Amino acid sequence: MQPGANSARHGPVHHPSKHVRSPQCLTLWCATNLKYTHPRYCLGNLQCFRYNNLSMAKRYRFCPFCATTLVEAFRFEQVRPCCPSCGFVQFPDPKVAVIALVIHQDHILLVQRGVDPAKGRWALPGGYMDAGEMPANALQRELAEEVGLAVDVQDLIQIYPMNNGEGRRVGIVLAFTASPAGDLALDRIGDDVTDAGWFPPDAVPADLAFESTTTLIQAWLAQQPQRPDGD
Ligand SMILES: [Zn+2]
Repeated sequence: MQPGANSARHGPVHHPSKHVRSPQCLTLWCATNLKYTHPRYCLGNLQCFRYNNLSMAKRYRFCPFCATTLVEAFRFEQVRPCCPSCGFVQFPDPKVAVIALVIHQDHILLVQRGVDPAKGRWALPGGYMDAGEMPANALQRELAEEVGLAVDVQDLIQIYPMNNGEGRRVGIVLAFTASPAGDLALDRIGDDVTDAGWFPPDAVPADLAFESTTTLIQAWLAQQPQRPDGD
């Protein structure tokens, strides 16, 4: 088989011991051995693994500090947008979200999403962390914003990967247990939510939003005592 045919089917073949810098590679700096890879895979199909590692983040075109046009350069083990003037390097910061399994007696709190992804489906309440927040504070803020509920945040139960619409990993989701800190009333519906409610095990909506939602709710349902029919 031709090496090029192989790379077309399975992506580029990397030979870390043979790092080359070749004018044929459009990224100029990737570790691909061009003998085995057509140059177009480095940029045209974004198959170069070094390029891919950073393409999960939106790449700046201009320096946010001095407005110089950024160049792609190999820094800190990856090709990164770099400023030739002031030295700025763009690092892809992961997004971090928090979600909560808010339980009261045998009811779980779910919100119906008003925005994509998964608009119209039911999910655990939560949202993105702001810089400077700790996860529990972020959850308390999100619960207050989404449904007007004060909560006590308890244990971290799982960490899930966060993927964007193209299936590319862009961050992590921290899932916690929580319980109402006072009144159970859901007296506010936030901008990104269309409905919210407390659901018993036998009335959990079928159209759940994310794999994390489904996994966590199935685990919660498995812990619930079976109720006799007609109860
Ligand atoms: Zn700069």
